[in-house]
Amino acid sequence: MLDIIQIPVLNDNYIYMLHDSVSLETAVIDPALEQPVLDVLAEKGWQLSFILNTHHHWDHVGANLALKQQTGCKIFAAASDRERIPGIDVGVEQGDVICLGEHQAQVVETPGHTSGHVVYYFAEDQALFCGDTLFVMGCGRLFEGTPQQMYASLQTLKALPPSIRVYCTHEYTLANATFALSVEPDNIFLQRKLLTVTQLRAANIATVPSTIAEEIATNPFFRVDSISIQKELGLVGAEPDVVFAALRRRKDDY
Ligand code: ZN
Ligand code: FE
Repeated sequence: MLDIIQIPVLNDNYIYMLHDSVSLETAVIDPALEQPVLDVLAEKGWQLSFILNTHHHWDHVGANLALKQQTGCKIFAAASDRERIPGIDVGVEQGDVICLGEHQAQVVETPGHTSGHVVYYFAEDQALFCGDTLFVMGCGRLFEGTPQQMYASLQTLKALPPSIRVYCTHEYTLANATFALSVEPDNIFLQRKLLTVTQLRAANIATVPSTIAEEIATNPFFRVDSISIQKELGLVGAEPDVVFAALRRRKDDY
C-alpha cells in the first residue's frame, strides 16, 4: 500500500507525503515549507528519499533546498524548468516513470499554469498529483501558457480513468464551486456538491481529493461542451478551446 499524508500549510496549500512500507522510501510533493515535512518524518520515523515538484512557483518549491540539505533527498522536476527549480537533481519529461519502491508514477506534461508544469500519475494506486493544473471544480490561472495549451492539458487529465483520485495543491474548492454554479446553475451534481463542500469547509475538513468522475460531473473547465455553459458565455456551438478561453477569462474577473 502507498501511504498518502495530506498536510495543510499556508492559507490554502496542501503538501503530500507518500510512503512505501516495503521499500521504506518516502517522497514529498510540492513542499512549500520544511518544518511540517520534517515533523511528519520524525513522528513516523521515515527518511525522505525524494521531492517531486509540479512547477517552479515558490509555494511548491519553497522547502526544496532546506529539505535537501537536511535529508540528502533527490529532487525531481520538469527538465524544461531546470533553471527555475532550486536544487533540481533529475529533470523529467513526458512519459518518464518514477519509482517509489514498487509504486510507479508517470510524468505527464501539463503546460498552461506555467510552461514547465508536470503532474505525477500513479495509475496502480489510482492517484493523480496535479499541482496547479486541475483543482476541484476549477483549474490553474494561465500565467505562462495559452488557453489552447491548458485546454489540451485538462483534456489529457479528463481522459484518465474515472476512479482516479485528484490530489491538487490548493483548497480552492468553495470559491470554485460558487463560480461553477454561476456559469451552470442547472447542474444538479454541482448544486449537491456545493452543499457538501460548504459543510466540509465549515468543519475545517479538506475537500481534496476528489475524483476524475466528480470533476467530469461538476468542473466547468471539464464541461465546455455543456450547452448551458456555452449559453452563459454567448458561445453556443463554438470550438471547445474558444469556450475554455472565455470561461477562464470569466473566472479571472469573478
Ligand atoms: Zn502555481
Ligand atoms: Fe500554487
